[in-house]
Amino acid sequence: MSITIEQIRSDFPILKKEIEGKPLVYFDNAATTQKPRQVIDSVNEYYRLHNSNVHRGVHLLSRQATISFEETRKKLAAFLNAAHDYEIIFTRGTTESVNLVAYTYGEANIHEGDEVIVSGLEHHSNLVPWQQLCFRKRAKLRVIPVLDNGELDLASYTALLNERTRLVAVNHISNTLGTINPVREITRLAHEYGAVVVIDGAQALSHGPVDVRDIDCDFYAFSAHKTYGPMGIGGLYGKEELLEKMPPFHFGGEMIETVSFEKTVFNKLPYKFEAGTPNVADAIAFGAAVDYISNLGWDTIRQQENLLLEYGTEKLLQVEGLKIIGTASHKASIISFLLDNIHFYDAGSVIDHFGIAVRTGNHCTQPLMARFGIQGTIRASFSFYNTTAEIDRLVEAINKVKELFA
Ligand code: PLP
Repeated sequence: MSITIEQIRSDFPILKKEIEGKPLVYFDNAATTQKPRQVIDSVNEYYRLHNSNVHRGVHLLSRQATISFEETRKKLAAFLNAAHDYEIIFTRGTTESVNLVAYTYGEANIHEGDEVIVSGLEHHSNLVPWQQLCFRKRAKLRVIPVLDNGELDLASYTALLNERTRLVAVNHISNTLGTINPVREITRLAHEYGAVVVIDGAQALSHGPVDVRDIDCDFYAFSAHKTYGPMGIGGLYGKEELLEKMPPFHFGGEMIETVSFEKTVFNKLPYKFEAGTPNVADAIAFGAAVDYISNLGWDTIRQQENLLLEYGTEKLLQVEGLKIIGTASHKASIISFLLDNIHFYDAGSVIDHFGIAVRTGNHCTQPLMARFGIQGTIRASFSFYNTTAEIDRLVEAINKVKELFA
């Protein structure tokens, strides 16, 4: 790496924080990533210098806000390799993006007797909207099983696909196990049956390049806060021809072209799906996060995260009585584990006293927990700003947990 880890860490003010007198070790990056100075400054600067509503005013502030807001859309389109800027719709995040597709495309195109396929690895955000849609439409929800190592059972997936399959919704990377799913292949197979594919990219955008045209997915949902950007903003990529045909999600200002009491003509893409005042400040700061990642470069990010995944796996496996759940051959830097005879909440609380933030619980994947016959796990998820020395501190803390509960 040409840039040092210390230089990278100095961009993230929160990493200087101390918890109970110990330097914070932040291993909850799959829940949300920390924000670099550039992102924090962007939000601050927007409200101090540029605050104004977009697309509405002819005055300078409004024009500037609109330019910066639309600039982020362009950056995201390039980041995802979308064919057009207007294929990127701003939403509050992955959850809202998935709901947008379920309530617009889903309501219009899924009918009684149709089948929707999800995977056993899904976060509730990419499961419940489809389950509820199937209830409303009397359609059938089918589930791709998960193998013991946390990979999807692709043979079963192939067998599930048939002429009634209308939609396939899977995540790119599992937030609980770190499995990187073969979304390109999943999409190709779904398209053979004419099914539309929704990818939940919440975890993927921060770990490596995403190319929606290469995947050929129809929709791709993401959240800024998991990608070093602010909370409350995210997006949905959708193929133009599908977005054009879909009805709007929310109705109101911004999404209209003309309104009379008799009828409303909807706005063109992407505004048709962006009713009301958007989260301008955070959208612009999302652009700053994309710039930050692009400047750092995927090589640097992947090199550090792969190192942490390898080192973390090796060190954790040396702890007696520790079991890793999820050992897929392609994994992101997320490790879920359990300790023999120690409840994950107890372990997490003690680890917290060492200034280490790990996640404990079901990680919004209750059916996946049921698949493994467990209630939850302890999850350490690493970012490029984490270090092997921090992993050593986690291992030390785990050993203390074991002593305490021996
Ligand atoms: N999908 C996955 C795989 C996630 O990890 C998460 C968040 O943890 C979500 C969806 C939901 O994202 P958000 O809460 O930002 O809408």
